[in-house]
Amino acid sequence: MQKSHFIANDWVAPAEGEFIPVIDPSDGSSLGEIARGTAHDVDAAVAAARSAIGETFDGPWGALAAAQRGRLLYRFSAAVSEHAEELAALEASDTGKSMKTARADVVALARYLEYYAGACDKLHGETLPYEAGYMVMTVREPHGVTAHIIPWNYPIQIFGRTVGASLAAGNACVVKPAEDASLSVLRLAEIAAAIGFPSGAINVVTGYGHEAGAALTEHRGIDHISFTGSTVTGRRVGEAAARRHCPVTLELGGKSPQIVFEDADLDAALPVIVNAIVQNAGQTCSAGSRLLVHSSVYEQVLERLARSFRALRSGPPALELDMGPLVNRKQYELVKSILAKAEADGIQVAACGELHPDAAAAGFYQEAVLLRDVPHGHSLAQEEIFGPVLAAMPFEDEAEAIRLANGTDFGLVAGVWTRDGARQLRLARKLRCGQVFVNNYGAAGGVELPFGGVKSSGYGREKGFEALLGFTVLKTIAVRHG
Ligand code: NDP
Repeated sequence: MQKSHFIANDWVAPAEGEFIPVIDPSDGSSLGEIARGTAHDVDAAVAAARSAIGETFDGPWGALAAAQRGRLLYRFSAAVSEHAEELAALEASDTGKSMKTARADVVALARYLEYYAGACDKLHGETLPYEAGYMVMTVREPHGVTAHIIPWNYPIQIFGRTVGASLAAGNACVVKPAEDASLSVLRLAEIAAAIGFPSGAINVVTGYGHEAGAALTEHRGIDHISFTGSTVTGRRVGEAAARRHCPVTLELGGKSPQIVFEDADLDAALPVIVNAIVQNAGQTCSAGSRLLVHSSVYEQVLERLARSFRALRSGPPALELDMGPLVNRKQYELVKSILAKAEADGIQVAACGELHPDAAAAGFYQEAVLLRDVPHGHSLAQEEIFGPVLAAMPFEDEAEAIRLANGTDFGLVAGVWTRDGARQLRLARKLRCGQVFVNNYGAAGGVELPFGGVKSSGYGREKGFEALLGFTVLKTIAVRHG
C-alpha cells in the first residue's frame, strides 16, 4: 500500500517523490508507505482550499448555503457509520489501539459530524441597539482556510471535532495528520469526496511534523490553525502563528487529577478511575494520570485499585483486551525510561497489569502500572507520561487536595469524587482547568461539551458550539440610514 496526498478530491503524488514507511505497532511489521510532504505539497493543498473558498467566498464551497453545508455533513456522518468497521480496523492497525476503542472513536466521529451538521444554519449574528438613524448588526463569517495538525492518539476523533466544526462554519481545511497515524484521515477525505464535498474543501497532506507540519503553520494562505499535541511543539506552532498574526487553538494535554474524598462512592469511582488512565493505553490528553486520595481511605483505595490493575491485559488490538501497544518505538522507549527513573528514585509500584502471551516481542506493549506515594514535586506527578501509568498520593484535607490538584503547569481536566454537594461546587470553582467532572470523568466523550485547557494545556476551545464560534470571525456592520 502506497498512499499519496489527498488534494482537491484526488490522490496527488508528493512533489519530491519521497515516502515514509508505516509501521504496525502491534508487531513492528510494515503497513505500507505514506507521502513525505514538503512545502510544495502544502502550497498545492492551500491553493486547492483557497479556490474552494473563492476570493470573496464565491468559490464552490465558500458560496454554499449553510443548510447545504449541513446536509453534506449529515451525509458525511452517515457515510462514516456505513464504513465504521473498515475505519476502525484501519485506525487499530495504524495506531495499535484496540478494536473496541477504535470502534468507539468512529461512533464519536459520526456524532461530531452530526452535531456540527445540525449547527451550520444556527450560526447567526445579532442586531445591536445603537444611535438613531443606524442599523447595526454582527455576522459570523468563516476565517477562510484552516490548518489542522492532528496527533496520532485519536486521529479519527480529532478530525471530527476540529475539521467537522471548521467545515460547519464554512472554512476549507488543510489537514496534516501525524506521520504515525495518517491512514484513517486520508480515507476520510476520500469518503468525503465520494459523497459530494466540492474539490478543495478537505485536503490532506501527510509527512513529518518538522517538514509538512511546519510548512503549513508558516503558510501565508492559512487563516487559522488548530493544533493538538505536545506542549513543546504547541509552543513552536504558537510562535509561527504569532509571527503573522494568525489565530490559533492549542490543545496540549495535561496531568489531570482524580480527587477522591473520604465520602466518595468507591464502587462507582474506581472502575472509572482505572478506565481514565488505561483507555487508549494512557495516550489520551485528558487521561486521569494523578490520583489524589484522602488519607483515611488511601490504603483501601490502593488495595482495590491494585486488584483491578493486576487484572488488566495488554495485547494485539484484534483480541479486544484492555490495551493495545503504544503507538511507536519512541513513545514506548519514553515510557520505559520514565518507569526506570521511577524505580531508581525508589517510587513504589503498587501493582502492574500483564502482557497477553500473543503480544509479539517486536510490538510496543506496556503493562498498566500503579505507583504509590509519589511525591508531589516528582516529575512523575508533574509531567505528562502518555502511557498507562497512574501516580497516587494521599492528601489530608480539602485545601491540600486543591493545592496539589492545581500544583502543576497543566490545567486540562479534573475529576472530583464526593457525595458532599457544597464541596462539589467549591472544588468545581477552585480547580484551575478547562473541565471539571463531578462523580464521573469525561462525560462519555461529551461531543457537546466545550473542551480545552488553561496554563500549559493550551488555549481556545474545541467541541460543542464554542468550537464552532472559534472557527468564525465576528464582523460588525453599521448602516446609517438617516
Ligand atoms: P507532537 O506534538 O510533536 O506531534 C503532534 C502533531 O504535531 C503531529 O501531527 C506532528 O507531526 C506535528 N508536528 C510536529 N512538529 C511540528 C512542527 N514543527 N510544526 C507543525 N507540526 C508539527 O507530539 P509527539 O508525537 O512528538 O509526542 C510527544 C508527546 O506529546 C507525547 O508523549 C505526549 O506527551 C504529547 N502528545 C499530546 C497529545 C494530546 O492529545 N494533547 C497528542 C500527542 C502527543 P508528526 O507526528 O508527523 O511529526
